[in-house]
Amino acid sequence: MNRKINGHKLIIASHNQGKVSEIKDLLSRYEVDVSSSENFGMKEPEENGDSFEENALIKASETANFCGQIALSDDSGLCVDDLDGDPGIFSARWAGPKKDFLKASKDIEKKLIEIGSSNYSAYFICALAVCWPDGESRIFKGKINGNLNFPPKGNLGFGYDPIFIPRNYDITFGEMDPIIKHKISHRSVAFDLFSRELLVEKE
Ligand code: IMP
Repeated sequence: MNRKINGHKLIIASHNQGKVSEIKDLLSRYEVDVSSSENFGMKEPEENGDSFEENALIKASETANFCGQIALSDDSGLCVDDLDGDPGIFSARWAGPKKDFLKASKDIEKKLIEIGSSNYSAYFICALAVCWPDGESRIFKGKINGNLNFPPKGNLGFGYDPIFIPRNYDITFGEMDPIIKHKISHRSVAFDLFSRELLVEKE
């Protein structure tokens, strides 16, 4: 397949404002007309896959079908090594209906203390899926390693950013200038792969 997305409408299959605004920032260099599935009155699809890739494909394909446009989805999450990769694909669900990431972060700390862990290594994963209304799809994946930090620090970014210090840095994503985060994050690694294959930069 040799399809480019430039010049087309691209629907971001997400109602998560933090994520949608990061994706819009990452796409600002390209000639694409971006909007969110929320603007089409679409409900969020149920994420019942067993992996980041499966969930990303569910969201992008349902959105492409519903909107009749090319759709891009991001399924991402925080994986803690000593918790066997939890919260992983359940990262959003650990925060509950109130999206309380302070509580979810405390739960991670509590579990690490309960098992007597002194290894706070963790990583973020991002799986990006692109689906066309005719059923064609592509997947791109990015990862960033780091360590957890408690108590949370910084109020930039979203989700688990205030408890994650990327490797080779000494501040959390919550304290980091978004310009730097967008250069190194799991999402930017996946976006680089995606854009190299499917986008052309603005002149
Ligand atoms: P989902 O991909 O919509 O299922 O949700 C992924 C969840 O993982 C988000 O709600 C965040 O809590 C977390 N997450 C993913 N990427 C990031 C990030 O860059 N920073 C902080 N938290 C993130």
